[in-house]
Amino acid sequence: MKIGVLALQGAFIEHEAMLRRLGVEVVEVRLPQDLDDVNGVIIPGGESTTIGKLAVRYNLMEPLRELARSGKPLWGTCAGMIFMAKAVEGEGRDQPLLGLMDVRVQRNAFGRQVDSFEANLNIKGVDGDKPFHAIFIRAPLIESVGAGVDVLARVEKDNQDVIVAARQGNLLATSFHPELSYDDRFHRYFLKMAESET
Ligand code: GLN
Repeated sequence: MKIGVLALQGAFIEHEAMLRRLGVEVVEVRLPQDLDDVNGVIIPGGESTTIGKLAVRYNLMEPLRELARSGKPLWGTCAGMIFMAKAVEGEGRDQPLLGLMDVRVQRNAFGRQVDSFEANLNIKGVDGDKPFHAIFIRAPLIESVGAGVDVLARVEKDNQDVIVAARQGNLLATSFHPELSYDDRFHRYFLKMAESET
């Protein structure tokens, strides 16, 4: 099993460490050829406009879309989720997007950096009986999903439950940062997606 981690900007090292702990071979993706023979790709959190602009500059947009079209799993965490979305509310209008996942996201939906928070979530399909401790850092939320998108987790915001994890076939998105919790269940969930594809 070989997983690529987009290593243009953001929290890619933490994803790599988690994958290595799980015995997975990791490739840092900076150029299109780094995607050769990977079984799946993780797009980390960071700053989504920067990730998008660098992906354009390094000619990674089409190869990443092609990889997703071929059925290999792609998982975006936080900024990575924004980058994978079809639509971004408001301030995200001018940023490059892969436009793969049929979701509309809102950036910085929970406030500024100081409003970052942690929450225990029940996540559909992630096994174990204890909730998943999720870390949100200037996180986005998913405002709406298209048909074929399965909602995996929600969190309460202003007395409403908003979507913070979703899956559409081989595409996975989380508003939070599972690579920062000492809990590998989300990574194992993604690896199962990659295994069933290979
Ligand atoms: N606020 C960032 C953005 O909009 C995402 C933050 C993160 O990835 N932790 O791109």
